[in-house]
Amino acid sequence: MFMNFDNFTTWLEINLRTLTENYRILTTIAGKPVMPVIKANAYGHGLEEVARALETAGAQWCGVARIEEALMLRNAGILMNILVLGFTPPQRIREAITNRINVTVYDFNLAQQYADAIGNSTSKLNVHVKVDTGMGRLGIPTHQVLEFLKFIKEKHEFDVQGLFTHFACADEPEKPYTLEQLNKFSEIVKEVEHQGLRPSLIHAANSAATLNFPDSRFDMVRCGLALFGLSPSPETKFPESLQPTLSWKTRLVSIKNLPLGHGVSYGFRYFTQKQERIGVIAAGYADGLRRRLGNHVLLQGRRVPVIGNICMDQCMLQLDKVPEAREGDEVVLIGKQGNMQITATEIAKEWGTISYEVVCGLAARMPREYKR
Ligand SMILES: *Cc1c(COP(=O)(O)O)cnc(C)c1O
Repeated sequence: MFMNFDNFTTWLEINLRTLTENYRILTTIAGKPVMPVIKANAYGHGLEEVARALETAGAQWCGVARIEEALMLRNAGILMNILVLGFTPPQRIREAITNRINVTVYDFNLAQQYADAIGNSTSKLNVHVKVDTGMGRLGIPTHQVLEFLKFIKEKHEFDVQGLFTHFACADEPEKPYTLEQLNKFSEIVKEVEHQGLRPSLIHAANSAATLNFPDSRFDMVRCGLALFGLSPSPETKFPESLQPTLSWKTRLVSIKNLPLGHGVSYGFRYFTQKQERIGVIAAGYADGLRRRLGNHVLLQGRRVPVIGNICMDQCMLQLDKVPEAREGDEVVLIGKQGNMQITATEIAKEWGTISYEVVCGLAARMPREYKR
């Protein structure tokens, strides 16, 4: 019997044309430049390939969470501006300068440590000042912003390129919090302009704010999730033209008939009720499949239940409703098959989490196949 195996057993397919199209659509909607946020391995899609595609599509900036990610991009030959949105250790500030990486500053002490690390070097560190307008995470408190901006601007070690904030609840547009944060930030921008301290880039909006709060777009928007065709929340008016960019596939690697009363997988959370046809697929919790009962996959264009506990690298399917299934058949965990589709959003709902966690959890060990 011919078996449809190829090089990969479990892999991700990433459609870079869809990604580029999503980038263009978001740029049009925003009416402002989009800074793709590609932290966490580009939300599981693969950092370097995604960055290259977006740079080719015209992105001038990208955002990551850590300097390690920024350095991976530079080592891959990415030339666009990079902003590290999270904490950068003072020990790595010289590397940031050498590699033309922008870092986020939000604290007097830390900024002083950066200045000390730079010492009398003639090259400047490019920074964006982050303001906490309500998120309660990184950011200088609003009442200290002016003092902090002056402090930073007076230091010859720094070149201030941006001023930004981050919203806590932009994905819940009916709540008042985002407008409160936006008002605070707008006041600060006004005051900063009044004092002649305005950096060239003011930015605030993540994907949800870009779509839900047009007034939050300022000079640039920072989009992660929406670029990958996923909606930040059910309450977000998500354009239908934005399409998911990722599929997660594996193959049936074994099929067996197990007799009545046979246990399946660790802990025997499943016993056959009769003779049952049980399949094995090569996807487990180490690939990002949540270790829980009740998962589903697509096989032969149908939704098929995963049974028993999820193992590290494998799990089992109940195949009685798909008698035509054969070893080697393609199995879809995320994406389309025939007329059926499983989205990261749908999985997130079942798992009691958000689609961000589902795609970020897709393990680095899985090969990524890029469609251009
Ligand atoms: C992750 C992140 C974003 C992007 O958020 P999305 O909801 O994925 O668009 C923007 N800004 C900051 C500071 C972030 O940490």
